[in-house]
Amino acid sequence: MSQTDPNQSTHTNIPSSNDDIPRVQLKLLSPVATWSWVLNADSCSICRTSLTAICMKCQTKSTGGNTKCSVSWGKCGHAFHTHCIDDWTKTRQVCPIDELAWTHQQTADIIA
Ligand SMILES: [Zn+2]
Ligand SMILES: [Zn+2]
Ligand SMILES: [Zn+2]
Repeated sequence: MSQTDPNQSTHTNIPSSNDDIPRVQLKLLSPVATWSWVLNADSCSICRTSLTAICMKCQTKSTGGNTKCSVSWGKCGHAFHTHCIDDWTKTRQVCPIDELAWTHQQTADIIA
């Protein structure tokens, strides 16, 4: 009862040529790789206000009222009000959600 038989070791026949890739794999590639900025914009995790509205600071006019509110996206794909993430990154240079290093990617105006 002490058989040490690697019963499938003789069938590891890995093709070394890319020509052997079956065409069926192309069907599995999803065309939705182009993710939208807008779809990722839900609500700001810092002030809990929707990203389609101005941030809590602007609503309470603590930004002075003459600063245009906008939305900033990081490279991680998360979005926050520019005022919120600016304040946040004064103390921590990370994304509040995933705590990855915050790298500003894009700013968009709020379409209210
Ligand atoms: Zn906010
Ligand atoms: Zn604002
Ligand atoms: Zn993030």
